[in-house]
Amino acid sequence: MDRIRKLIDDMREYGTLNEVPIMSVESINTINKIIDDNNIHSILEIGTAIAYSTICFAANNNINRITSIERDKVRFNIAKNNVLESKLNNIELICDDALNTVINDKYDLIIIDAAKSQNMKFFNKYKNNLNSTGIIIIDNLDFHGYVGRSSEIKSRNLRQMVRKIEKFIDFLDNQDEFEVEYIEVGDRLGVCKRKNL
Ligand code: SAH
Ligand code: MG
Repeated sequence: MDRIRKLIDDMREYGTLNEVPIMSVESINTINKIIDDNNIHSILEIGTAIAYSTICFAANNNINRITSIERDKVRFNIAKNNVLESKLNNIELICDDALNTVINDKYDLIIIDAAKSQNMKFFNKYKNNLNSTGIIIIDNLDFHGYVGRSSEIKSRNLRQMVRKIEKFIDFLDNQDEFEVEYIEVGDRLGVCKRKNL
């Protein structure tokens, strides 16, 4: 386990130095607690990057299986090497655009942490892969503090992206299938559980 701790520390350092937007330690700890408290054994993750979060969750003893999707080939190859080095055997990596990937299995937890403007598409596509009692977690719902103040943003691209996150939050707050809790760790997590369970 010490080897995995060391690998995780090295990956966090690599991510910081190379501007890979990995989750904060507090977000990782919060999600690992959700895993422990909710009988979660399988995860589908959208957005692997270098497999930092993937390995952090795969190292949780409750996780039998994590599938993670990354479209960027360079990052995917780094992720593959990190997974090899971890010697964990419960990780499956897929190199693909997650908007097109066909996944047939169902999972206890789905983590959405990819292109922030596509949150709604990922959510509506992958909720079909969620077990009946499963949970969907979305990362970066605060987007570095920009969410809620999109009208002040000068850059057109950034403004449009933040607007999409604002619309997505509006959608989450006004749909009937899931109840949503926002957790103020890292860049804000949204935690969605099915209503009427
Ligand atoms: N979960 C990682 C960080 C992911 S960063 C961690 O916390 O360690 C977001 C990643 O999503 C980027 O590497 C980006 O290439 C990937 N991504 C963005 N849109 C995607 C898509 N449509 N399909 C697959 N991967 C995508
Ligand atoms: Mg993130």
